[in-house]
Amino acid sequence: MSRTVVSRLFDTHYHLDLSRDPVAIVRECEARGIYTIAVTNAPSVFAATQSLVAGCKCVRAAIGMHPELVLSHGVDLEQFWLALERTRYVGEIGLDYVTSDPDNRARQRAVLTQILDHCARATGKVLTLHSRRAAADVIDAVGPTFPGHAILHWFSGSLRELRRAIDYGFYFSINPRMLSSASSSRILQAIPRDRILLETDGPFVTVNSRPAEPRDTILVVEQLAERWKLASDEVGAFLFENFRRLLEVA
Ligand code: MN
Repeated sequence: MSRTVVSRLFDTHYHLDLSRDPVAIVRECEARGIYTIAVTNAPSVFAATQSLVAGCKCVRAAIGMHPELVLSHGVDLEQFWLALERTRYVGEIGLDYVTSDPDNRARQRAVLTQILDHCARATGKVLTLHSRRAAADVIDAVGPTFPGHAILHWFSGSLRELRRAIDYGFYFSINPRMLSSASSSRILQAIPRDRILLETDGPFVTVNSRPAEPRDTILVVEQLAERWKLASDEVGAFLFENFRRLLEVA
């Protein structure tokens, strides 16, 4: 596997602003060197999140617009475009087709398309994408030539959709919850190991009946190590190398 010996935890999708004690989480990530992308769900909370992580070595704020909030918060995107100039990280964005309302879905697609167009004007943006029941449309929207990096967060689409996303160069972030579901396990087996990243999606995902925190990505590392019959350190180093490689390329 990897020649790298550094095994470090990282969380590409964590809702810092929704945690009970964001300051303590930031402190822990910094102290333990846990690289964390603090996603946001609406442009109105980006500034506060970015101040919270100002001066941090390991934690970065992402500008996001959660698809389920598009109808209520997606009208004025001016704040989004301004924030986009101040961060490389974008998320949580995407589509959520749990709603069957065609107008809601259309509005989500329109907003996502605008966001992706803006992102494509820069290079090297790192996107963390929500795609519940909408994998095909999210993969289409980003497309095969996006000049940055697409990470499908908590992917739950079909194997066919998965293969297309792999062909397009996407990455996949895996959280502790995904490891306990049979359908996710099937998906996980089909993802090339060099496209796998870690996430918690805390505090929405819980671990031992408490909200997941970035340090809980160790649970994913340990379970993958068991499945792959490798040492945890080796798997941790390999996955961290995936993340490092992604960040290195503009
Ligand atoms: Mn999320």
